[in-house]
Amino acid sequence: MDNLVCPPWTGWALDHMQLGLLVLDGQSQVVFANQWFLRHARLSPEQILNKSLVEVFPQLARSQFTLFLDHALGSGFPALLSQTLHPAPFPLYQPSSQRSQDKMLRQSIRIIPMGYQVASESDQRYTLIQISDVTNSVMRERLLKAQASKLQDMANLDTLTGLGNRRLLNDKLTLELRAASRLGTSVAAVMFDIDYFKQFNDLYGHLVGDECLRQVAAVLRDVCRRPHDVVVRFGGEELVAILPETDHAGAMQLARDVLQRVRDLAMVHAGSTIAPVLTLSAGVAVSEPGRILSPEALLDAADHALYRAKDAGRNQVCAALLPAL
Ligand code: GH3
Ligand code: MG
Ligand code: MG
Repeated sequence: MDNLVCPPWTGWALDHMQLGLLVLDGQSQVVFANQWFLRHARLSPEQILNKSLVEVFPQLARSQFTLFLDHALGSGFPALLSQTLHPAPFPLYQPSSQRSQDKMLRQSIRIIPMGYQVASESDQRYTLIQISDVTNSVMRERLLKAQASKLQDMANLDTLTGLGNRRLLNDKLTLELRAASRLGTSVAAVMFDIDYFKQFNDLYGHLVGDECLRQVAAVLRDVCRRPHDVVVRFGGEELVAILPETDHAGAMQLARDVLQRVRDLAMVHAGSTIAPVLTLSAGVAVSEPGRILSPEALLDAADHALYRAKDAGRNQVCAALLPAL
């Protein structure tokens, strides 16, 4: 670079850039490092100048950065390292941060071979390496992703009970039925409905009714605890459990457990004609190999079974009447 004629402010400008600059000579030795780079690498000029990069940063040996560098040198074309795949090739830190809380800067790195048109001799070729600190934009991106996923979760939740809502039910049921038909397994749907809930609200007020719904939802969440179980508020005081890999007997047993646990809550219901406490009715339907149901047909069958339970006197579980296997 000695033969380049530079105006006197060039060095000042390079040192005041808000990015790291390194220049390597034809033997990959560092012939220039700007102030930004030295400050963030916590090095003095003596520690880096006229040394090979790998000597100063042994972690670069056999790294993706070195592969990109070799490739850029071989081809004469610039290279850009993906900040997602290679977040921090150089050990660079905020100069002001406490050493105990050191976090490496996220880096976007551009490798620019220079002088290829004018020099055929490798010792007259130089390579410029630009390092931008993208920590803030990576953090911002992460925050936005987290917020988007939170919003997505909220869009799938029922605010009163914290259970899933119908949108979640539609999505999950479609996925689970598809997986079940691929794997040859069954999926059960259980629809629950609180008995005489209108009278409960009339007697104790809507707020107590809301609290009652929350408690019933908590029981359901507690009983349906397998990782792929989905529990949603279908509407009003109707709750639905989708139970992958569950057969008829298993779903009937689970439904009876839920009914028992809700009776055990012993929420007084003076308006009920069937028990002194709050009770549920439930309908069970199962999609199984040999009798695979669509999402709509499965929910419809569970709904019919629920109404059979209501007709039969409430406070009980009924199975759907489906064609024999
Ligand atoms: P059945 O035993 O036949 O199910 O009778 P029911 O009274 O439970 O059924 P009905 O469909 O006549 O009434 C449902 C009641 O559920 C009416 C409504 O006030 C109540 N309800 C629906 N959503 C909510 C809610 O978010 N909070 C409260 N507190 N009550 C609700
Ligand atoms: Mg009801
Ligand atoms: Mg109802």
